[in-house]
Amino acid sequence: MTGVYITIDTEYASSLAGLGRAENFARSIAGETPEGPAGVFYKMRLMERCGLKGVFFVDPMPALIWGVAAIEDVVGPIVEHGHDVQLHLHTEWLAFANGANPLPGRSGANLKDFTFEEQCILIDYAALTLGAAGAPRPVAFRAGNYGANDDTLRALDLHACSIARQALGEQDFTEPDWSYWEFAFNTGTPGRGEYASEGLWSLTGVIA
Ligand SMILES: [Zn+2]
Repeated sequence: MTGVYITIDTEYASSLAGLGRAENFARSIAGETPEGPAGVFYKMRLMERCGLKGVFFVDPMPALIWGVAAIEDVVGPIVEHGHDVQLHLHTEWLAFANGANPLPGRSGANLKDFTFEEQCILIDYAALTLGAAGAPRPVAFRAGNYGANDDTLRALDLHACSIARQALGEQDFTEPDWSYWEFAFNTGTPGRGEYASEGLWSLTGVIA
C-alpha cells in the first residue's frame, strides 16, 4: 500500500495583513465563506470523520506583528485534535515587522532572497516561535511560495545538527530564548557525518 501525507499550508495571509488579526484569522485560518467554513477546523473534522491525520505546515512569522498568541490560536486546536504541526515560513511578514524584525531593515518575498546566515536566523526565529506557540519540535519544513534555494537546505541541515546535539545531551537548549544559531556560530557546528556515526542520522535527516 502506498503511504500518503495530507499536508496543508496553514497561514495568515500576508496580503491581508492590513485587515488585522481577527479578520485575517477568519478568512485565512478558519476559511469562513458565505457557504460556511472551509478552513483548518472544517478540514480537521473532515479528516477525523475519515480516520485520517493531517500535517499542518504552520507559518509562525505573523507573530512579528501580532505576538505569539496569534500563532497559539492556530497551533492549539491542531495539537488538541491530534494532528501534526510542522514548520512553514513566509518571509513577506518581515516587511511589516518594524522593530521586531530579527534582520533589521531586511525584507524579501522568498527565503532565497536572503543569505545563508540570514536564513539560519529566520529559521531559528520561526522554529522557536512555533515551539513557544505550543507545537512539538518540528521535523519537516516547507518554504513559503516554495521559495527555497540550496542555502535553505544547508540552514535546515545545520538546524537539524543542533537538534541532534541536544539529543546527545551536549547542550541545554531548554531556555526559551536560547538561539541554536548563537550556539552553532560560536562553537562551530559539525556536519552530518559526526551524527550519522552516532546512529542519529534518521533524526537529523528528516528535517531537510
Ligand atoms: Zn504558504
